[in-house]
This record gives sequence, structure tokens and C-alpha cells, in this order.
Amino acid sequence: MNYKIALIRGDGIGPEIVDEAVGVINRVGEKFGHTFIYVDVLLGGCATDAVGKSYPDGTAEICKSCDAVLLGAVGGPKWGSDKPAEQRPETALLAIRKDLGLYANLRPAALRPALAEACPLKKETAEKGIDLMMVRELTGGVYFGKRDRYETPDRGVECTDLMAYSEMEIERIGRRAFEMARLRRNKVSSVDKANVLETSRLWRSVMHRLAKEYPDVAYEDVLVDNCAMQLVRDPGQFDVVVTENMFGDILSDEASMITGSIGLLPSASMGDTAPALYEPIHGSAPDIAGQDKANPIATILSVAMMFRYSFHLAQEADAVERAVDKALADGWRTADIAKPGESIVGTRQMGQIIRDNI
Ligand code: NAD
Repeated sequence: MNYKIALIRGDGIGPEIVDEAVGVINRVGEKFGHTFIYVDVLLGGCATDAVGKSYPDGTAEICKSCDAVLLGAVGGPKWGSDKPAEQRPETALLAIRKDLGLYANLRPAALRPALAEACPLKKETAEKGIDLMMVRELTGGVYFGKRDRYETPDRGVECTDLMAYSEMEIERIGRRAFEMARLRRNKVSSVDKANVLETSRLWRSVMHRLAKEYPDVAYEDVLVDNCAMQLVRDPGQFDVVVTENMFGDILSDEASMITGSIGLLPSASMGDTAPALYEPIHGSAPDIAGQDKANPIATILSVAMMFRYSFHLAQEADAVERAVDKALADGWRTADIAKPGESIVGTRQMGQIIRDNI
């Protein structure tokens, strides 16, 4: 089969980690007999430097002509908040998510066996294993609601941020979660604040309706404050966790912390139609850019997600994940995951080791 992939290398360590990921994709192509075609897409600070805008005209159309999008990372101090919006890399990220209709953000948080000691939780908790998938609603809720700021006669300035959700928005993210659970361990935990928020009460009623359509999937409601607590007490209880935008923003960072390094975790953002977008959860790490120090594993595991969810190549996805686990089990470490005294490999060598393991 032929697959067309849009590559957004971006800024900082983006080009270095995407190069290693492309090497892995090509190795899978050789081994399993697929052809991968790449289309380079300019986006982020590098696009501002080249054409004066972080999101050049036509970017969405180029991405839509591809089967999937792989993004390294964008941003850096050079294009900070003093710059006009169209020159800031974050503007480009929000724009591409919106233009591609990416309403579901999937972040697996899995403790890789060889790195169990990097888990900051109690040893007996880590030993039970952590392997959960956060499914976060990405285009609704309070981050996208109407905002207001006004003077009051007696209380100074007052602000409001509106949290709004429709049944349609809740149902489509809910379906994603139930479908995802069927590919995993058949359990959905839906996180809300239904004891306080009206949006959460609607969220819960839609989820209950969906749960009846998926009788093979175990379902539970979890209040967001309890979920935050359970993630550090007993994260092994979770399989798929689905929640609205702001709760998901916070809980997915918490979930990533309990698995060790930021350099290890991939993500996918999806809509109803292709292409989906795959990217590491970390940023452009300007402090280590261009020094062959970045950990390419999060980007390489994003490639595994791309194989599994966009191309339905489960065997190929497994091969990439096994290659990463073998590299770690054999003791190879980039600086971010090395313990004092352990020898360290650079970005390129880690990429090569993983390719050789496939
Ligand atoms: P960051 O994730 O870039 O870096 C945080 C720390 O983690 C740094 O010390 C960095 O060196 C380290 N780190 C990150 N990725 C690593 C990797 N693969 N290997 C080894 N170490 C790694 O977060 P930040 O410093 O807050 O942000 C830097 C820039 O990235 C900002 O401009 C921010 O806006 C941008 N950003 C972009 C995205 C994205 O492109 N999706 C996401 C988050 C932040």
C-alpha cells in the first residue's frame, strides 16, 4: 500500500525528532512492503521566518490531501507573545486543529516496563502497571466559550468564561472513547463534575445513553477531583478515560507525569475524517535544540499510533512499540531518562538503535 504523510518538522528539536521518526517509517516500509510518500509542510516559527505567517495560506488543503499528519513541535522564544498573533506558532497549532476538525485528543499514558523506576509513585503501585488512554474533547468547553471582561460599579473588573457543550459534541467524543475501549480492555471511565456543573450533567446523561449501546464495555462515572486523586493512588484501574477539554488538559498532564519522562509520550488528534494529526506531547525544547540531545521516542511512538489508528497497520505499530521497548530494556538512554552514571546516547543513535530493532 501507498500512504501519503504530511510532515511538519517545525521548530527547536522538531526537525531532529521528525528525521528519526521518518527513518523508522522508512524501515517499516522496507520490512513490511509499504511505500510512504512525504509532503513537507511549513508551519510554526520557521514559517514566520520564511513567509511572515506561522500558518501559511493553503496549509490545511495540503494536509487534507494526505492520509495523516506528523508534527514535531513548534514554538520558541524568538516568536514570543510580543509578536502579532499571525506570527506566533501557537496560533498555527490552534488553526490547524480547527481546520482539520480535530475534536478528539488521544494521549496514551503507559509505563514502559524498562522504565518502571522512573515512575514517581510507590513501587507497589508502579508494579501493578499503568496503561491508560486519555480521550480529551479538544474543540469545545470553556477554552472556546464566549469571554467577557467589564468594569463593575463596586467590585472592580469582572470576567467571565463560558463553558458550553452540545449533545452532538459530547456524543461524538463519547463514541470515540467507547470504540477505543473495544480496541483495548473494554472499560470507559467518564470524568465530569456533575455534582456542580450543568454541562457535566448533560455530559453524564449522553454518556449513559451511549453506555447502553456498548453493553460489552464496562462503564463508570468519576468526578474530576476523585479522578485526579485516583491517578496517583491507583492508575492501574483505568483503561479509557474520557473527559471535556479543560479537565482533560489538566488530567492528561498528570497522567503523563506518573509515567516518567515527557520525552516518551505520543499523542493523536482526530476528527470524523482523515487526516488525523500525530505528535509528541512535549514542546520544541529550545534549550537543547540542534545538540543531538532530544529523545526521539515520543515522536517514534506517535508513528506507531499513526500506523494503528490512521493506516490500520496493527502489526507494524506493534513492531515499532516492541523496538522501542527493546532499546530501553537493553539499557539505551537519552539524557532525559538516564540515571546518574548511566551512559547516554544522542537523538540520532537512539533512532538508529530503534530502527535496527525493527
Ligand atoms: P518543552 O516540552 O519544549 O520543554 C520542557 C522541558 O522538557 C525542557 O527542559 C526540554 O529540554 C525537555 N524536553 C522536552 N522534550 C524533550 C525531548 N524530546 N527530549 C528531551 N528533553 C525534552 O516545553 P516548554 O519549554 O514549556 O516549551 C518550549 C516551546 O515549545 C514553547 O515555545 C512552547 O510554546 C512550545 N510548545 C509546543 C508544543 C507543540 O508544538 N505541540 C507543545 C508544548 C509547548
